[in-house]
Amino acid sequence: MDIALRRGFIWPSFEIYGGVGGFYDFGPLGTILKNKIIQKWRDYYVFGEGFFEIDSPSVTPEEVLKASGHVDHFLDAMTECQKCGAAFRVADVAREATGKDVEGMSRHEMEQFMQEHRVRCPDCGGELGPVFDFNAMFRTTIGPGAKRVAYLRPETAQAMFIDFKRLQRHARGKLPFGVVQIGKGYRNEISPRQGIIRLREFTMAEAEVFFDPDDPHHPKFSDVASEELRLWLAGDQERGKKLLNEVTAEQAVKKKLVCNELMGYYLALTKRFLIDLGIPSGAIRFRQQTPGQRAHYSAETWDAEVSTERFGWVEVAGLAYRTDYDLSRHAKSSGEDLTVFSADKKRKVMCHVVEPSYGIDRPLYCVLEHALVQEKNRTYLRLKKDMAPIEVGVFPLISRDGLPEKALAVYEGLRGKGLMAEYDDSGSIGRRYARADEVGTPYCVTIDHQTLRDGTVTIRDRDTTRQIRVGIEKLSNVLCSLLRDEVSFMDAGEAVKKRGGS
Ligand SMILES: [Zn+2]
Repeated sequence: MDIALRRGFIWPSFEIYGGVGGFYDFGPLGTILKNKIIQKWRDYYVFGEGFFEIDSPSVTPEEVLKASGHVDHFLDAMTECQKCGAAFRVADVAREATGKDVEGMSRHEMEQFMQEHRVRCPDCGGELGPVFDFNAMFRTTIGPGAKRVAYLRPETAQAMFIDFKRLQRHARGKLPFGVVQIGKGYRNEISPRQGIIRLREFTMAEAEVFFDPDDPHHPKFSDVASEELRLWLAGDQERGKKLLNEVTAEQAVKKKLVCNELMGYYLALTKRFLIDLGIPSGAIRFRQQTPGQRAHYSAETWDAEVSTERFGWVEVAGLAYRTDYDLSRHAKSSGEDLTVFSADKKRKVMCHVVEPSYGIDRPLYCVLEHALVQEKNRTYLRLKKDMAPIEVGVFPLISRDGLPEKALAVYEGLRGKGLMAEYDDSGSIGRRYARADEVGTPYCVTIDHQTLRDGTVTIRDRDTTRQIRVGIEKLSNVLCSLLRDEVSFMDAGEAVKKRGGS
């Protein structure tokens, strides 16, 4: 978090006014990283799966969220301190005080639990008041006056159900088909206490996969059948067991540990996506939500969780079997027919939905934490090369003798070739390498006196700190090959003997 703040990844929002809990800005490097995560997600879902992407408003009229169940069910149980007035989410204070999970309990059971375990205000030790419901949606109105109530969307999913008729026509009636949306979601958290992990405004990437409930097959399931999954079943959690089932995606489907083949497929795809971001497979597990934890629309939910040092296991994606809940509710509420006519089966089908839903902000934190390497002499981010915000640093060895002019020309040349390069001439060369390491820049190019004589520069490798020399005319091609792992570092140029200070 220190590097993230200091180096422009993540900042508290509204900082000069004291900040507001649950809101963060992405700085210049954080924004690039966030966009890279989004782009990679598109690579999987839009390019890989061939799903359609749409983009709809955040402001959502009340009737939509009434039909979707969010007005009645998007609730958090809360309590207030009788002494200092601080508000808390019951599940959070209960877990902090007892390590136990009260989600799924009735309000009355929660109150009993809090009394039995003598849970007090974590801020002042005062007594906590009654448990009551708080709707976690941000409320607003459309236009002047208070008549047209609306909310900031709690998920991007609803638009994909609302637009279903147009979307299924776009898919020419073929099933299964998928739709995605990437955008902001909002949850008016009662008292967010976990920094970047508990946000009130966040970016999410959601896919709705519409299928015939009689045919929940994925055409490419065989591609992921052998992918190993670590599953923590709801029943084992309820019995207090930590046991993880290690099975292949194929076994998970065959043994009916997951509801259907589509769910098995998207669990495997989620694991591949997280590994592709740079999260080690050993730090990934899938936790099945217990019935009490599940959202009102879901018949089965799997949370993809990543192990972190700072926050423990962090949920980064949720895969829900939403059945035909949303389409049926919207059909009833709007009076529209939201079925598909199946030409093969000569009948109307109300589609069921499997929804892989990802946060973008939380994986970003996980990527940074897992990339951090602290060695005796240096700290660096071992980001995957395709995730590094800056691809190449360009430095003049010293700030005179015409080296800065030459280095700036090299820098401009690399930017012109589409490489995300950064120019830095402040402080010693050792300090500049250290700064580049700290933000995970895979390669640094240094212009020295030899450059003026023979037109070659050094390239330094972040992970090994080894250096090679390469001619400027070949530099952008060499860097592109290195960034794409098409060539090994020591084969890409002439080895440079190690000097001190670098
Ligand atoms: Zn208090």
